[in-house]
Amino acid sequence: MRILVFLIGYEIYCRKEIMTEKFEVWDAHVHFFSFSFFKTLIKMKGGETSVSDEFVLLKERYGIETPPISPVQLAKRWIEEMEKYGISKLVLFSSVPEDTLSVSTAVTAFPDKFIGFFMLNPLAEKIDLEIKHAVENMGMRGMILFPALYHIHVYDELLERVYLLAEEYRLVVFVHFGILKIPIREMIGVKDQIDGTYSNPTDLHRVAVRHPNVNFIIPHFGAGYFRELLMLGAQCKNIYVDTSSSNSWVKILPYKIDLKTVFEKTIEIFGVDRVVFGTDSGVFPRGYRIDILNQQLEILNEIGLSSDEIQKILSGNIKRLLGF
Ligand SMILES: [Zn+2]
Repeated sequence: MRILVFLIGYEIYCRKEIMTEKFEVWDAHVHFFSFSFFKTLIKMKGGETSVSDEFVLLKERYGIETPPISPVQLAKRWIEEMEKYGISKLVLFSSVPEDTLSVSTAVTAFPDKFIGFFMLNPLAEKIDLEIKHAVENMGMRGMILFPALYHIHVYDELLERVYLLAEEYRLVVFVHFGILKIPIREMIGVKDQIDGTYSNPTDLHRVAVRHPNVNFIIPHFGAGYFRELLMLGAQCKNIYVDTSSSNSWVKILPYKIDLKTVFEKTIEIFGVDRVVFGTDSGVFPRGYRIDILNQQLEILNEIGLSSDEIQKILSGNIKRLLGF
């Protein structure tokens, strides 16, 4: 009996290993928390403590490692993680507008490993030049908007030129809606004024209709605005979803829903061609969030998708969006 249980367990173990290995995985949502990213936020926070003392505090309080000063060294750290878990490519995000250069340095050093997306300050004075510079000189392929952080609706006329440039440069536009908690900013002590007034995915409807050639990715299944996300996805073919993070927003909904149901419903409305895998990995020593990949892979198998369909979610869709 004991041998039988052992054999069944071993078979499940083997199946899991094979499952992970047979797919090509591109992670469409990884934060490149560089040394300069931390430095920018520490300065933003202000106060008397020196930058190096703040790094000591982060280590003591939260166990967060100080990244190497050189972005190339940090990039190598990520490559080690990719090799460890068999991940083919990462879309690296700059997580403050001032840190595009770090991501650009990593992408330039290892173009076959990384794709760069930059965070845009939508209120920047010379926004056209910012975008042009990020694309033409720094090789960025997508831009990231946080409407609740900058207090601007995505349909604000101010952003019209942003979408026109996105179309011209074929940039993917990533927009964060729903609950916005940025743990790393909280740990550093930056006091953000998050305003949920700007967080509803339906804000994007007018923009998506007006710019059918621009593709938008909404992370974490709308992070709480699940119904609104589905409504938007049902009406606009240029809206995509990313699956990243632990998706703990499911706990705040007024009804019970698990991640498997979230996947099923999303695929029912969006189809398998508009769902993009991501983990939202970012800090060390935690490194790559393989637990999220394993959990989602298990769900995709459970809901009965074919290998081809799973492959689209794990890399095919983001490759197509980026023109690979
Ligand atoms: Zn993220």
